[in-house]
Amino acid sequence: MRENKKNKLSIILILLALSLTIMIFFLYANNKNNDKPAISSPKVSHEETKYENINVYTKEEWGDDQRSLLYVSYPVTENKIINLELEKKSQLFIDEYKNMAANNEIAYQDYLKETGEAPVSLITEYIQHFDISFTTEKYLLFIFDQYRSTGGTGSANSVSLLFNRITGEELALSNLFSKDNYLEELSSRSRKILNERMNKEADELEFSNEAAKLEWRERGLEQIDSGTKPVTDNFNSLIISENRELVIVFDKYQVGPGSDGVVTVKIPLSDISAILSEDLRNIFDISQKEEEDPSDEKETIDNPPLSTVDCSVDKCVALTFDDGPSVYTNKLLDILKEKNVKASFFVLGRSAKIQADTIKRIFKEGHVIGNHSWDHKNLTKLSEPEIEKQIADSDRLIKEITGYEMTLLRPPYGSYKKLVQESTDKAIILWNIDPEDWKVKDAEIVSTRMSEAEAGSIILAHDIYPSTIEAIPQVIENLKQKGLKFVTINELFAPEKVGKGQALRYRPY
Ligand code: ZN
Repeated sequence: MRENKKNKLSIILILLALSLTIMIFFLYANNKNNDKPAISSPKVSHEETKYENINVYTKEEWGDDQRSLLYVSYPVTENKIINLELEKKSQLFIDEYKNMAANNEIAYQDYLKETGEAPVSLITEYIQHFDISFTTEKYLLFIFDQYRSTGGTGSANSVSLLFNRITGEELALSNLFSKDNYLEELSSRSRKILNERMNKEADELEFSNEAAKLEWRERGLEQIDSGTKPVTDNFNSLIISENRELVIVFDKYQVGPGSDGVVTVKIPLSDISAILSEDLRNIFDISQKEEEDPSDEKETIDNPPLSTVDCSVDKCVALTFDDGPSVYTNKLLDILKEKNVKASFFVLGRSAKIQADTIKRIFKEGHVIGNHSWDHKNLTKLSEPEIEKQIADSDRLIKEITGYEMTLLRPPYGSYKKLVQESTDKAIILWNIDPEDWKVKDAEIVSTRMSEAEAGSIILAHDIYPSTIEAIPQVIENLKQKGLKFVTINELFAPEKVGKGQALRYRPY
């Protein structure tokens, strides 16, 4: 084992040295673009790695006047079948380079002829490095990093190759796993990590307004979603690190903007022991966790039962929050929890998608979730199918996250007409107390206005403004002093069931 570590260190050093050589070449090429003689004969070298029986084959080739560069390295093992395969794969890369360099050279000469000037960006660079992820008597796992640049921006991708070291057979990466559903597992885990990373980044970045932030996150989320779909192509680059982690390498542009470059996600092998192949578990000495009961895996969330408040007798008031969830919603939930107050949240589908965990929390802590459309379109300006889509998309998402089927609709801007009423089987919940918190953004004014509520009132507020959240503790104090009890919309109208197309502003006493 110790020998093995030394070996790994050595290969890293060798690769480092190779990278340095390349960098020096680049510097040289950039600085001495005009007076350096053309090198067209390829340099080929064989170096030993400290892995037993694994050598490095390196080929480096500059085109005329250094307008193209090929650098290829790949391992040479004791197994001829493996070597042939690696050679073949590398040759494909080399052929692609030659084609590209030739085409670029033609374009270069054309441009020169037409304009009398040399184009600056028509440079072809093809670079392939490899790394050894792990070796055993039976397995070899290599990772190839390939970089292609044809002027302007370059693209980088990496792909892992797994071989049976004895037979030389190339094996699918699925051989590292014991379960057919391993892709789903890798997908959901990397999605979670990438989403968290993005949310953190969103909090650190400066946005001109909340909408711009939402937009940014939505775009990011879509990219993560598509780049981590559970298909083999999305998970074709896997490394097993010395720290016993599975490292998933996502290509440039796969799960984020090009500026992110290649993105990696690390998962400790012990966390995914249930899906690892027996061989892998043995190699890395990882014990298999108890088979999880699949019914436990799917988190089921309970919405606590409604309170015992009877609004036909007690004086009730309903706090409602629109347009969330937002980055401030958790703070609001903390306050409501501390004061033991239940509220109703009319959420946007597109925000709920980004903050699914917040939705879970709202539901878990006994609040009611209502539909506020997918992305805050004025429903009265839409066709019937569009209205239905706005409502149904949100319904589906909330059901997916919580298992709950929403029964309340608050149309954006409170705008509805007959068509909206006919398009939904939900009750339309409006309000009779509007602090205009979106306009004043002042906790004290908002608190004073909300505190005007009486028995039966429905109070409108928005959990997307910090000033609104700040007002809530005082509002709760003031209204409790008036002898009012805080209830959800469902409780407010109980025992009557509110239903299809009914529009309600308050509970009459
Ligand atoms: Zn709204």
